[in-house]
Amino acid sequence: MLLWQLPQRHQQLTGHPALVYQGEQVTYSELVKWIDAYARLFQELGVRPGERVAICAPNCPEFIYSYLGAMKAGAIVVPLNLMLTREEIAFIIRDAGCSTMVIHRVIVERMGLAPQHAAALGLKHLLVLDNKTAARAQAAPPAVPVTASEEDICVFLYTSGTTGRPKGAMLTHRNFLADIEALDAVSNLGPDNNFLCVLPMFHSFAWTTCVLLPLYLGSTITIKESFQPKDTLKTLSEEDITIFCGVPSMYAVLLRMGEKGQFKTLKFAISGGAPLAAEVQRGFEAKFAFPLVEGYGLSEAAPVVCLNPLYGVRKPGSIGLPLPGVEVKVVDDDDLEVPVGQVGELVVRGPNVMAGYHNQPEETAAALRGGWLHTGDLARRDEDGYFYIIDRKKDMIILGGFNVYPREVEEVLLAHPAVMEAAVVGVGDPVKGETVKAYIVLKEGASADRRQLQDFLKEHLAAYKIPRLFEFVAELPKSPTGKVLKKLLKG
Ligand code: AMP
Repeated sequence: MLLWQLPQRHQQLTGHPALVYQGEQVTYSELVKWIDAYARLFQELGVRPGERVAICAPNCPEFIYSYLGAMKAGAIVVPLNLMLTREEIAFIIRDAGCSTMVIHRVIVERMGLAPQHAAALGLKHLLVLDNKTAARAQAAPPAVPVTASEEDICVFLYTSGTTGRPKGAMLTHRNFLADIEALDAVSNLGPDNNFLCVLPMFHSFAWTTCVLLPLYLGSTITIKESFQPKDTLKTLSEEDITIFCGVPSMYAVLLRMGEKGQFKTLKFAISGGAPLAAEVQRGFEAKFAFPLVEGYGLSEAAPVVCLNPLYGVRKPGSIGLPLPGVEVKVVDDDDLEVPVGQVGELVVRGPNVMAGYHNQPEETAAALRGGWLHTGDLARRDEDGYFYIIDRKKDMIILGGFNVYPREVEEVLLAHPAVMEAAVVGVGDPVKGETVKAYIVLKEGASADRRQLQDFLKEHLAAYKIPRLFEFVAELPKSPTGKVLKKLLKG
């Protein structure tokens, strides 16, 4: 089965819709038609199998139509983080070799993009999603069937590594299907469910758990553009939502603002993307009386790797057990498995693990050495086989589920004429879990303040990557080999 075929199995379903968005419902048979219409539209534009189609849109039904429609036309989808700047998007478009970009009207306006920018970005086509797209898709001529297999790469998911620049994790239909099938096996949910999707669909957490899994099950997806605490509370208590997926900072807010026993139809809430504080989990379960289940994953594994049991023992602070069919172990620097309780790097093997990074043979060989995906996360396992994430080996900061790679921010800071040295670290933040802090050594005689550096960064980087905190220091602590000792800066 291919991902765009998932909804076809439920075309006869009349009990509940496939999608609910702004009060409008889309049935499964309508969804199948929309996917076909978008596939025809891409073919009419001239998109050939294997071409890359970037998608930059907030959560909306058209995001799903164009994603699955492009796949039906045989294209590889490159979902883009909405918060990226034009410069960051241009890098990904060139790196992935995208021929086409689907972009929502609101993003075009926000970024000041015009059709003439398409050529400068190396694009052949820019498809703006607006109120004319639906009619255009419906009017497109019949599609030419494309032959494809489950082993074909269907998505490049851009994710950064320690090298700073984002890399495209190449994922196949089988990678996603394996993850969905494993999630289905442990959750045993069946079709009568309504998934609330507030997480951004461009991220694999939302795409797999809030879009593909419900489409596989024949459930409903209630789509929201983003997480708005009041609206989420209202939706969770007034609509028949049964499954909610979120990042830890969302749960902290819901716990603070929600009222006891408010969510009557919810069966489970799933947390992932960043560590869930044990107090939040306990407080949440005590207040709302249904399970808040922590899992762990990464883009390179399509993405879910571990999950606490939905029906069994959940251990606070743990990411739970490996999904069925997925092998997980903790290894030392020589890739040898460490004993229970000892900390090492978490490595993963299974049908959900990516084929490699696009055009990055060295990075691919390093990440997949010995046939195991090296996650860069430091973890330990307990005697019951539950895993715990301790820290990140890779130098990454997580802000409410979004990743910031210090080196990327440091590189821009170093481009500022007044900056001699810069070190960026994550420091504790009560709401987001972590916030970005920059330590700066200014050049002799030069001056720059926090505001000026933030303004400079804003020209190059998405807002969530900009450090909130700055400390100007005379020198940075360094090891004898000249490496900045970030552990000391984190305090
Ligand atoms: P991404 O590729 O954007 O999905 O980011 C994956 C990274 O998020 C992982 O390598 C971890 O560092 C982090 N992560 C995901 N889930 C958890 C979790 N439950 N606890 C701690 N870190 C997590």
